[in-house]
Amino acid sequence: MSDTYDALAKIVGKDYVSDRKEERYFYARDPGLMPPHDPDYVVMPKTTEQVQEILKLANREKVPVVPKGGGLSLTGLVIAQKGGILLDMKRMGEIVELNEKARYVVVEGGTTQGTLKSYLIKHYPHLRHSIPDSPPIATIVANAVIHGQGRLTQQHGFNSDMVSGLEVVLPTGEICRIGSCAVSPYWFSKGPPMPDLTGLFLGWFGTTGVITKLGLKLYPCKKARDVMMYLTDKVELVPEILRKLGHTEMMEDIVVSAQPVPLRFKGNFTILVFITGDTEEELEFKRKMAWDTLWEYFESRDGGFVSVTPDMKPSILAMPSKDTTRFADVSKGGGFEYSGPIAPIDKYPQYFKKLEELASKYKLFYSSAARCIDGGHCMMFSFSYTFNRADPDSMERAKTALDEAAEFALEQGGVIWKPNIDEQQMVMERMDPNTLNLMKKLKELLDPNGIMNPGNWEAK
Ligand SMILES: Cc1cc2nc3c(=O)[nH]c(=O)nc-3n(C[C@H](O)[C@H](O)[C@H](O)COP(=O)(O)OP(=O)(O)OC[C@H]3O[C@@H](n4cnc5c(N)ncnc54)[C@H](O)[C@@H]3O)c2cc1C
Repeated sequence: MSDTYDALAKIVGKDYVSDRKEERYFYARDPGLMPPHDPDYVVMPKTTEQVQEILKLANREKVPVVPKGGGLSLTGLVIAQKGGILLDMKRMGEIVELNEKARYVVVEGGTTQGTLKSYLIKHYPHLRHSIPDSPPIATIVANAVIHGQGRLTQQHGFNSDMVSGLEVVLPTGEICRIGSCAVSPYWFSKGPPMPDLTGLFLGWFGTTGVITKLGLKLYPCKKARDVMMYLTDKVELVPEILRKLGHTEMMEDIVVSAQPVPLRFKGNFTILVFITGDTEEELEFKRKMAWDTLWEYFESRDGGFVSVTPDMKPSILAMPSKDTTRFADVSKGGGFEYSGPIAPIDKYPQYFKKLEELASKYKLFYSSAARCIDGGHCMMFSFSYTFNRADPDSMERAKTALDEAAEFALEQGGVIWKPNIDEQQMVMERMDPNTLNLMKKLKELLDPNGIMNPGNWEAK
């Protein structure tokens, strides 16, 4: 046993630290395509103070630290590229406080999406949060760290825009409160009217500190939800359809899907329009607004709403949706990964054509789901390809296709979402050099010994 192991065991207790081969093997990988790398230790803290002690030790000994939530971001962001401590946050899974009138909740750094969802259903059914389609063990904090998107993103922006405060342990061990909670007992604002410092931690993939608490805005949970399905076979019309639907400012979520199987989907773009209401009149009004705004395409026979039968609705309305997971199982024993650029909605046709072109070039099965963000200011377009883990060649082809998709997305003016370390290099190569330098200075200021998730956001 090393000195570091003993020191870690002293902080968290010997049941919550491991340097065993099988544990390091398990924590060396994620379900995506990036190559694995073993951490030296797996550590599971229970309190902010334990995180603080771990970071002080790591900073002193210059040992890398990689925070991990559910490990489902798929792009290798929790792979310990340079070994060190894999900090599994799952024991910090509590809901700390909920303010019903101000509509926010404070959760610990490892609280899962599933925990918050069930807590709200049980105790505050009139409140909800923006649930992503990732499996329920994904954590609230990590989803905000990677600027995730969920069911309320079309109305309220990225899930990280819904953050209302942070508690962070800096790499040097100081515990910092960010937002209104820095001066007040209330977690209602992540910055305004003060400078918004959450930007020093969100989007940084754990390279600037460990978030131990997060305030999250909650929104009204209306009594009913419904979904409408719109079909068009004209890819060039998709951006205008999205713009028109966004203009109504009434839709909960708008998602465009495209995939070649089952055959009835081939050549069609399926736009799912989700609506909510407290009364049937409210729902009916929103349905009518959606119909009216797209009426001209019905008349020109370019598109139209199709009926969603009652037996289809429960699976389409489920949160999280299981469709992506089903797609992953199409090639037996396989997995899937997506490169999801964030881009203006008018890029949809170009991105879709590239998705198809790469699928045909590399003989891959594709699917795409594009989600409107913040009323249509931009979208997340997923280039998703399946691969079979038992077939290294299919993994190689999927990885090459995703690399090409990322290059293309950037050329077209998009920005890669949750980029893996190779894609981070592509982004940094194109970045304004002064901006890159500013990021470097901030990183050095917060993490002088470069211990946090090394390899990420590190320009070569
Ligand atoms: C089937 C499927 C569907 C998906 N659908 C969606 C979707 O609809 N929307 C969406 O946004 N995503 C989606 N994803 C992607 C991803 O699973 C989610 O974004 C998920 O929220 C990531 O959370 P995680 O806990 O798994 O993150 P992790 O992979 O564990 O971590 C992500 C990043 O956060 C950092 N981090 C973790 N905890 C902390 C902490 N406490 N402090 C500082 N840094 C930390 C990690 O170091 C890493 O860089 C999907 C994934 C799958 C597999």
